[in-house]
Amino acid sequence: MKALVTGGAGFIGSHLVERLLEAGHEVQVVDNLSTGARRNLAHLEEDHRLQVTVESILDQAYMDEAIKQADLVFHLAAAVGVEWVLQHPLGSLETNLRGTDIVLAAADRHKRPVLIASTSEVYGKNDGGPLREDDDRILGSGQVTRWLYATAKAADEALALAYWQEHQLPTIVLRFFNTIGPRQTGRYGMVVPRLVGQALANEPLTVYGDGKQTRCFTYVRDVVKSVMSLAECGSAWGQVFNIGRDQEITIDDLARRIVELTGSCSAIIHVPYQDAYGPGFEDMRRRVPDVSKLRRCIGYAPDTDLDEALRQVIASHPAGVAGIAS
Ligand code: UDP
Repeated sequence: MKALVTGGAGFIGSHLVERLLEAGHEVQVVDNLSTGARRNLAHLEEDHRLQVTVESILDQAYMDEAIKQADLVFHLAAAVGVEWVLQHPLGSLETNLRGTDIVLAAADRHKRPVLIASTSEVYGKNDGGPLREDDDRILGSGQVTRWLYATAKAADEALALAYWQEHQLPTIVLRFFNTIGPRQTGRYGMVVPRLVGQALANEPLTVYGDGKQTRCFTYVRDVVKSVMSLAECGSAWGQVFNIGRDQEITIDDLARRIVELTGSCSAIIHVPYQDAYGPGFEDMRRRVPDVSKLRRCIGYAPDTDLDEALRQVIASHPAGVAGIAS
């Protein structure tokens, strides 16, 4: 099979490419290197089955041809990271709305199945129990920039499902919860690489707000394994899936665990949201996936525990190679 991976030089994308090659497939990557990086694929460059093209998904003519030549499309290219989206609202909307529109329209013309990356962010402030795929979205004001990301991704989801309903184009929506692992950068706001970097530099770990907000972190190898299994699961087409692990941790406890595992002498400090993200920022207190639908479809859900995932992140950090406390 020849797979096209948009955003293949990004964090999750590069792990997916690695796994597709391991499984014996040919892979074409399209990435504009805005938040992705060539070094994420450097260890695979010798593999003649991999082709990397630096191009924007907004180039309609290029995407039409690339999709025509593929058997299956993994559409992961997107503006990601709370901080990045806050700093680039216009570019984020353009990539996430027009980009997905271009990809899906080309896939429809050539009848190529597409898995599209979405995000747990679409649930917004719904911080009740574990979130099921059909649960309500609760978004704050449209003037809060953060929610633009959720709005654009929800539109992408709707478009993918509409193509399935009206044109029978096979699509699957992947709602990624907080994913972590080697090659994730803290530059765009993700908490784990950022706190690990701070701990390894013996700098204070910056926990935003009161630190009592919770997240569930999933190891990237588990995430891409689930994505590949969904692509092979006939009953998954036309559906939305939460992709994540359902073990919850407060950001305070996460910071403490990172200090322990790195053997760091860093302090943990609390930074008001306003100082971190500017006035009017809204965060969600709790975000836990219900992964029963995923489990029913592919027979498992991601299960690498947090400590193991953190160990991998620490070991792959340039400053972490020195050693990991047990
Ligand atoms: N966060 C933090 N310190 C940081 C970066 C993020 O405490 O240096 C917090 C952030 O406010 C949020 C949680 O960690 O409550 C997860 O943030 P991230 O941006 O990684 O993901 P998301 O908010 O999309 O879940």
